[in-house]
Amino acid sequence: MVLAPAAALLLGTQVLGAQLRAVRFAAVVDGSGTVTQRGVVIVSGDTILRVAGPRDAIPQGAQVIDLSRYTAIPGLIDVHTHMTYYWDSTSGTDPWRQPPRPPEQTVSLARWNATRTLETGVTTVRDLGASNYTDIALRDSINKAGWTGPRMFVAGFGLQRARPPYRPNTDTTRTQRGRVYDISQIPEAVKQQVDAGADYVKLYGSTGSGADVTGNETFNAAEMKAAVDAAKKLGRRVAIHSYGPVGGRDAVAAGTTSLEHSINLDDATLAEMKAKDIFYVPTVDHNRFYAEYAKDFRYTPQQVAALDSFRVLNFETARRAIRAGVKLGMGSDAVFHMFGQNTRELRWYVRAGMTPAQALATATVNGAAILGQEKKLGRIAPGYFADIAAVEGDPLADINVVTDKVRWVMKGGTVVVDKTGSRSP
Ligand SMILES: [Zn+2]
Repeated sequence: MVLAPAAALLLGTQVLGAQLRAVRFAAVVDGSGTVTQRGVVIVSGDTILRVAGPRDAIPQGAQVIDLSRYTAIPGLIDVHTHMTYYWDSTSGTDPWRQPPRPPEQTVSLARWNATRTLETGVTTVRDLGASNYTDIALRDSINKAGWTGPRMFVAGFGLQRARPPYRPNTDTTRTQRGRVYDISQIPEAVKQQVDAGADYVKLYGSTGSGADVTGNETFNAAEMKAAVDAAKKLGRRVAIHSYGPVGGRDAVAAGTTSLEHSINLDDATLAEMKAKDIFYVPTVDHNRFYAEYAKDFRYTPQQVAALDSFRVLNFETARRAIRAGVKLGMGSDAVFHMFGQNTRELRWYVRAGMTPAQALATATVNGAAILGQEKKLGRIAPGYFADIAAVEGDPLADINVVTDKVRWVMKGGTVVVDKTGSRSP
């Protein structure tokens, strides 16, 4: 009797129809801190079946990928990106002053950012703000049309205080591009993003962006709470941007899931963050980026000095937060040509007192917790997505191994980066 192909598959593998892979590493470092020396990750389709030891049997029929020169870490999570901000450096304009382009062109150009991001070992991003729902289009193109890029959790338009002169939009079916005039419009603005397909809600709770490092609060605590409540009602979480400490304090009081950027947070706010499990996403490194590439941005020496002083305070606040036991998420705030440098943020955390393992946790298990994906992302463990980065060196001894030495990346069981220079047998 000849077995039907499906039955043959059932005998040879553990999951019907799914491709089995066995990936050998020098060591497998899980996001929770467990290390398996000479571990072999068994992958079925897009999912991790288990981490086997060097002497365990490899399942019959599995394709063996030999990465025994490298160490596995979980695919990393960057919880603050703007993937649709693309800079055409040949355009003769600085990144903030590019001529407008059609949204569909923005989406396809963002593939450059998506590729650079994967090359850093980042397989998941939380994208916090885009125009014209280009973030939703990019996410769906990756998920449904086979584009290469990280998993995206997106926010649509970030909610912003509308600037005067006010022209209230009485037709609530029309998009208001996330602009709100007063508290009464906040639930509707949140709902518009969710209806459009947003996974997360972003609120700009203070001024500050690019070379502007002012941190003046733009929404008060009651308004922030209205956004958090509206999002919760729709099953969504909130990230609140505040450069300054007042917006930071109010965002924490309002119960945001994560607080982005804030400097000079007071001890009471840090204690409240710890008590409420609110994550701090300091984004220290993006102001290093702006200062370093000041020429591209045409920033003046005064603007660079302002970026540098903000970064010093930002770093100091991160240091105090770490000491106070606040959990951090790794967010790059990457825009334009910062993609490819997504993980440099981790170096600041180690400089601020974290061990490399703790820094790695900010970009793995903490990122997963911020997204509510603790059971699927951030670990190399059974049932998790097969999101794995192979690094050259010991990531627990030197964080630069994570930031600089990613050689191979698998996302959902598909190899998306291979710089090992050798074909698998
Ligand atoms: Zn941002």
